[in-house]
Amino acid sequence: MSNIALAGIPYDRKSSFMRGASIAPGKIREYLYSNTGNLFAENGLTIENERIRNYGDLPVNDYNDIAPSIQTLLEKSERVLSLGGDHSITYPVIKAYKGYYDNIEILHIDAHADLYDELYGDRYSHACPFARIMEDNLATRLVQVGIRTLNDHQREQSKKFRTEIVEMKDLNLNKLPLPEKAVYLSIDLDGIDPAYAPGVSHHEPGGLSSRDVINIINMIKGPIIGADIVELNPVRDSQGITAALAAKLAKEILARMLESE
Ligand code: MN
Ligand code: MN
Repeated sequence: MSNIALAGIPYDRKSSFMRGASIAPGKIREYLYSNTGNLFAENGLTIENERIRNYGDLPVNDYNDIAPSIQTLLEKSERVLSLGGDHSITYPVIKAYKGYYDNIEILHIDAHADLYDELYGDRYSHACPFARIMEDNLATRLVQVGIRTLNDHQREQSKKFRTEIVEMKDLNLNKLPLPEKAVYLSIDLDGIDPAYAPGVSHHEPGGLSSRDVINIINMIKGPIIGADIVELNPVRDSQGITAALAAKLAKEILARMLESE
């Protein structure tokens, strides 16, 4: 039975607009383990479970540190839920996963498709991770939900990489093309409406509700092999409201991960 690693990635140097996501992991853990709520998730399981190991923040100073530190956890046959960082972290994380899992299917929640070939001269920007993942054939499927900022270039990229985009304007939760095999869930908190998640660098109104995302997490048929919650920017968070949401999502994801071996 595999264990689950909860690990912070304190990295935000691939952010195109604002820094802050590097201090997110501590804020999320603070909420997760505070006395503000209990540790039971909506599936009835508690995350107070010896299979869940808290690694604090991983030793990540540089972009190139991310893949090896995730690999260290996978070597111990632990599945990883990573907290924080900007969205650039997902490419090195999936790169590490590819050595351990076949047919990875990614469910990606975001306001943005993050499929840019490059942004401001950086191919590893937080606007590019899914272009790199699909180019390297690291995932057999990429389902992108909540997207509401598509431009011509990203539409072309989506077509080229055959990603399945569910634009926010077309969202019907009952008809989501949910991946079913080895699911990796990547949640960019700006996919959620800024009314629920103000603590992000890129406000894009008209997004998912907190409830929508919790329901999606619980609709995944599983097994969830890994997940990340990225782009929390505590500098912009009001009353810790977004950190609390990130903690709630982390709890729901961990409890779903506990359901599978
Ligand atoms: Mn993103
Ligand atoms: Mn985004």
